[in-house]
Formats: sequence, C-alpha cells, structure tokens
Amino acid sequence: MSGAAVVVEHVRKSFEGGRIRALEDVSLRLDPGELVALTGPSGCGKSTLLNLIGALDRPDAGEIHVGGEDVTRLRDPAGYRAETVGFVFQFHNLIMTLTALENVQVPMLGRRGRAERERRAAELLAEVGLAGRADSYPPTLSGGERQRVAIARALANEPRLLLADEPTGALDSETGAQILDLLRRLRDEHGTTILLVTNDDAVAAQADRVVRIRDGVLTPAADARAR
Ligand code: ADP
Ligand code: MG
Repeated sequence: MSGAAVVVEHVRKSFEGGRIRALEDVSLRLDPGELVALTGPSGCGKSTLLNLIGALDRPDAGEIHVGGEDVTRLRDPAGYRAETVGFVFQFHNLIMTLTALENVQVPMLGRRGRAERERRAAELLAEVGLAGRADSYPPTLSGGERQRVAIARALANEPRLLLADEPTGALDSETGAQILDLLRRLRDEHGTTILLVTNDDAVAAQADRVVRIRDGVLTPAADARAR
C-alpha cells in the first residue's frame, strides 16, 4: 500500500463559539511518502490540524483530502480512522493490562481473524525491534520501547498516512533520535506518508521538510510548496 497525498486548503477551526481561533487559514500539501515535520509554539493549533486530518474533528471551513478522499465529508469516519490513518501520540496510550503483542492487535480486532492478528502483530513488533518483548506488559518497557509498541500498533492496518503528535516529546534526545530513525525507515520501506508534530529542532531536522504554524496561520514562506 503506497502513501497517501494530503491536501489541506484554507482550513479554519475555532472553538467555544468562535472565541478561540485555533487555525485561521491553513494550507499544506504532502506528497505520498513524504515525512514532514510540523512545528510551532504551544497552542498554535498543531494538534488541532492533526485531529482534522485524522477526521477526529471537522473544520469550520476549508477542504482536506487524503489519498483523494474528502475527509470532511466521510460516510464512514470510523472506517477511515481505522484503515487509512494511524495515530501516534506523545503519551503512547497503550493498555497497561495487555501485553505488547495484544496492544498491537487492538486496531485489528473485528477486522482480521485471531491467527492473522497474532502473526501480523508479531511481524510488526519485529519491525520496530521488539521481537523479544511480545509478551511484556507496558509498565516493564522503557519509554522508547513503549513508543515503538505504539508505532507498531499505529501501523497495524497498513495506514497510508501516519499522524504523529509529539511522539518524542516525552523521551530523552537519544531515544527520540532512535524513534525518528525508525519512522524514516518505515517510511522508506512502506512508502507511508508521515506528518510529525515536534517542538524539537533536532527531530524536525530529520524530516524531508519542516513547516511552521504561527498564530493559526501556516505562511507560504514557511512552506514554499503550499499552494
Ligand atoms: P498545539 O497542539 O499547537 O499546542 P492545539 O491545537 O492543541 O495547539 O490548540 C490550539 C488552540 O485551540 C489552543 O488555544 C487550545 O486551547 C484550543 N483548543 C484545542 N482544542 C480545543 C477544544 N476541544 N476546545 C476548546 N479549545 C480547544
Ligand atoms: Mg498539541
């Protein structure tokens, strides 16, 4: 499965009846297989933009297409979230009472049979370098290992787009660099498009391109290819 192109055009989003204007007029394009870092000060709307692209929320105005599909008018948003996009967050949100292997299977529940789920989860854990920790519970894993389990889980249904919201934000810089290496390798092998929010310049420098939101606007100067 190849990566999805992402086209965001003139997106606006406010909260609390317009009092909080999170995104004023944001346009952004990602080519299939591109790894783009999204930066900007806290509260500038980075998570809001990811949530809109991931169809967790809807914009007030503007258009968002992922793989040619209009994600603001989905008939089956849950299906889109499960099959087209994968999410990775700062705090991995793993289920503490499930093993690594079981956590990775969660997005596949009801979508694949048990044997296939287990086989694929084991494969994914091997891909992120955790083959030996399949039966470990998250509290016994390091922060970097937990984040790798979360990445394996995000890839469970072979998403065409990975949305990562400060995935290295809770990690030390060396572990963060390893997570970035992993994301880049997965992108190279699977062609997955990746949009990565980070406030860490060293992390952003490892992306193909860096874009910046400021005061709810992503300026053409910050993203020369946004049209
Ligand atoms: P960032 O991820 O860049 O730190 P966010 O996208 O989380 O910023 O937030 C952008 C602005 O929108 C902030 O002022 C935040 O408080 C506000 N905001 C985000 N989500 C909501 C919400 N569900 N309800 C009200 N305000 C929100
Ligand atoms: Mg955020």
